[in-house]
Amino acid sequence: MFRRSGWKWRWHHPDLAFMDFSGHFGGPFSVLPWGVSTSRMQANFAAQVLRATLFAARAHAGQVRKGAAAEPYVNHVIEVAAILAEHGAPEEAILAGLLHDTVEDTETTDADLVAVFGPVIAGLVAEATDDKEKPKEIRKALQISQAPKHSEAAKQLKLADKIANLRSIADSPPANWNHARRIEYVGWAGRVAAGLKGVNPGLDALFDTTYRAALARLASEMP
Ligand code: ZN
Repeated sequence: MFRRSGWKWRWHHPDLAFMDFSGHFGGPFSVLPWGVSTSRMQANFAAQVLRATLFAARAHAGQVRKGAAAEPYVNHVIEVAAILAEHGAPEEAILAGLLHDTVEDTETTDADLVAVFGPVIAGLVAEATDDKEKPKEIRKALQISQAPKHSEAAKQLKLADKIANLRSIADSPPANWNHARRIEYVGWAGRVAAGLKGVNPGLDALFDTTYRAALARLASEMP
């Protein structure tokens, strides 16, 4: 399912030279002359969002969500970024939201992200990346214990990820997940979220609403 060819070609393709815009955070913007308009900066952020979206779409090409709808995988990361943008999360969290599954689930490396998006974005993605060398149950336990230790931007990103996943578990669950497994996932997501809350009240409230809706939906579908 993962795309194993073509990545390096895309990486070195001259059309993608524009993707090196890593100076945004703490780089050129800190030395911009007075008079550079806010709209110019907003246009720059829009360009970065679209570049990160394109990067994610290419990295996740061919991958689909596990749910019955079999949506393209990239829809998930766009949803996470949209949740963050709609709730006033910082720009770096929104950009990292678009990229948050590339290192975990595609051929993309941390070094690739540093080269294209800079160390701040790459660092946030690293905070949201599980170590797949570890057994699944250990990774799930680590997500709970590590949650309170993350940066504020990463907490928001991880909370938005859990919100998107809870929606999917309720609305379009993986075909091979039985009712008990879905309930178990919702409970685990709640325990992770407990360590992520306290940064962005809007996101906290959206998680709680989504969590309760997922539990209500599952209760109504009790076998
Ligand atoms: Zn995700």
